[in-house]
Parts: sequence; C-alpha cells; structure tokens
Amino acid sequence: MANKLMRLEGKVAVITGGASGIGEATARLFVEHGARVVIADIQDELALQVVSSIGTDNVCYRHCDVTDEKQVEETVAFAVQKYGTLNIMFSNAGILGSFGSLLEMDMAVFDRTIAVNTRGAASAVKHAARVMVAKKIRGSIICTASVESILAGTGPLPYVVSKHGILAVVKSAARELGQHGIRVNCISPHGIATPMVCKSVGADAASVEATVYRNANLKGVTLNTKHIAEAALFLASDESAYIIAQNLAVDGGLSSI
Ligand code: NAD
Repeated sequence: MANKLMRLEGKVAVITGGASGIGEATARLFVEHGARVVIADIQDELALQVVSSIGTDNVCYRHCDVTDEKQVEETVAFAVQKYGTLNIMFSNAGILGSFGSLLEMDMAVFDRTIAVNTRGAASAVKHAARVMVAKKIRGSIICTASVESILAGTGPLPYVVSKHGILAVVKSAARELGQHGIRVNCISPHGIATPMVCKSVGADAASVEATVYRNANLKGVTLNTKHIAEAALFLASDESAYIIAQNLAVDGGLSSI
C-alpha cells in the first residue's frame, strides 16, 4: 500500500532556480514525497552538488537559463523524455537586483529583472502548459512571486514590477488553463536570508535575519526555505485540487495585517 505521506507519488516536476534557496528546499521535499524532479538552473556546479546530496535517480539537473525560451522548452521536453510526463512546474528562478532610489535606477537592470523574473515565469508557464494540454495532464503550475507582488517598498522598483507581473501571469494563465484542468497559483514569500537576498543587501545570513527582515506579525518563527517548500508541496499536491489563481502569502502576515 502506498505511503499516505507520499503526497507526490508518481508525479514529475521541473523546478527552475532549483540549485539554491527555496528551489533547492522544494526539490528535496518533492523527492521526499515521491516525485521525480528536474532541477533547472544556471549554477551547474551547485546544482550538481544538490543532486548528488539528494542521492537518488529521482532527481537530476538540466542547465536552463529562463531568459532563453528555447532552453525552457528543451528543459520541459527533457523532463518528459527522462521521467515520462510532466505534472508540476515550479517556476521559481529569480533575481532581486540592487536596492536604491528610482532616481538612480539603471534601466538595463530593470530589463534584466523583468527578463528573468516575469518573462522567465511566463515562458515556464507556457511550455509546461503546452505539454500538459497536449497530453491532457491535469497538472499544477506554481510560480514564486513575492510579498512584492502585493506591496511595494521593501524591494527595488524593478523587482516590485517584476513580481506584480508574475501575479498577472498567474491570474491570466489560470483563467485559460483551468479549462484544461490545469491549476496555476503562486506563492509570495517575504524575508528569507537566501543567497539572492544576502548578495543584494551585501550581508551574511545572520545579519540579514537580525536586521533586514523581521516577521511582521508572527513572533517566534524565522521564515525559512522549508516553509515555502511546504506551501509549494500543498499547491502541487491533490490536496489543493480546487485552488486556482491564488497568491499564497507566506510572509508572517506582512501583506495583510
Ligand atoms: P536563491 O538565490 O537561493 O535562488 C535563486 C535561484 O534562481 C538560484 O539558484 C539562481 O541560480 C537561479 N536563477 C537566477 N537567474 C536564473 C536564470 N536566468 N535562469 C535560471 N535560474 C536562475 O534565492 P531564493 O530566495 O531562493 O529565490 C527563489 C525565488 O524566491 C525568487 O523568485 C525570489 O524572487 C523569490 N523570493 C524570495 C524571497 C526571499 O526572501 N528569499 C522573498 C520573496 C520572493
């Protein structure tokens, strides 16, 4: 009898940005729950270390720069070829950019942030959906947005725009893809001292946790990557079978109270 705790038994997932932080934690959790996972990222060495440390044939790595649509398409095709299907796309790759006033905003950084975060997400949604629709798979597509998809002010302007854009991608895609039984949702974290955040603020994880981010309304819990992975697991699993077009904030209440 199947283990009831294996919530993704038999499912195949692609996780963009899976070499580090939230994506890595999600890859580990999905594999624990019986999924086969393709980690898609640009940090080859780091990703291969993650694959090796998970230590099973149920996870592998594919180099994929999400700004290159062809690479996204090929990554999805690779997952189908390697593991036989595609049930879950976790579009999670992202960059934060540097903090600073809009008065000094570098428009090249603006373009790059949109290209990775928003266009990359749209591309991942598109190519996952093409396979799911063609194969009549009732899949789950999840994007990592941010509390910045709801609020502005705690991140740089290009990042805020890019994450509001992800919410638009999710709502729009959910409307169309719901007709095919495909669910599209997103998760909005706030404040985890991952490499993306530490690099952008120029501080180590301990300082970031102590000074930059504080839980807004929930005392006694420091948000970590596993909390986001658990939200992704819920949205990927059949337990969220009637949930579409939602933005699940995992932010200690920051965006709501
Ligand atoms: P991270 O730096 O640990 O992980 C980001 C991953 O994305 C890295 O492995 C990186 O190589 C990959 N990546 C970057 N550009 C890419 C590209 N062009 N193609 C493919 N992969 C690429 O940071 P994280 O905090 O785990 O970030 C994951 C997601 O979570 C991002 O979308 C980020 O915006 C979002 N997020 C994070 C926080 C937070 O506080 N850490 C808050 C809100 C949202």
